[in-house]
Amino acid sequence: MSASSKSKHSKPVAPEKSYITVRNSPVHGRGVFSARKIPADTFIVEYEGERISEKEASRRHGTDPDNPFHTFFFSLESGKLIDGGVDGSDARWINHACEPNCEAREEKGHVYIYSLRDIKKGEELNYDYGLVLDERYTKKVKKNYECRCGAPSCRHTMLALKSKKK
Ligand SMILES: [Zn+2]
Repeated sequence: MSASSKSKHSKPVAPEKSYITVRNSPVHGRGVFSARKIPADTFIVEYEGERISEKEASRRHGTDPDNPFHTFFFSLESGKLIDGGVDGSDARWINHACEPNCEAREEKGHVYIYSLRDIKKGEELNYDYGLVLDERYTKKVKKNYECRCGAPSCRHTMLALKSKKK
């Protein structure tokens, strides 16, 4: 233990040198790749952006006619969202995968991306978006959020499976 270690639940220490690099992804658009080896359970990058209400999010949603379902929203437990499209970090380019090598952990309204396992240099980083929508998950909706991650267990959607309500 270091004598200088700060009190509980402080923001995880950012790596001195960034672990990531952004380039085109074979999966979707731009992606985030490891610039060097990342050990398991390492804090990689914070998901930054403007904090907005759900109402504001639905107002902003789908305003890009070329890509109506592409957003940089991250839902927080409080019901608020982070819009990574405004003052966002490179974390907004991390793609979804059904068998991800990273996960997003929320702590006090902040979202931190951590590695789930050792990651080699050059691997694309991803986490399971587990999106939840209010609308019914019709075929069309699922298509709009289609996953093409290629994992054997791919569930073909970035949406979290809903527990059936009676
Ligand atoms: Zn998938």
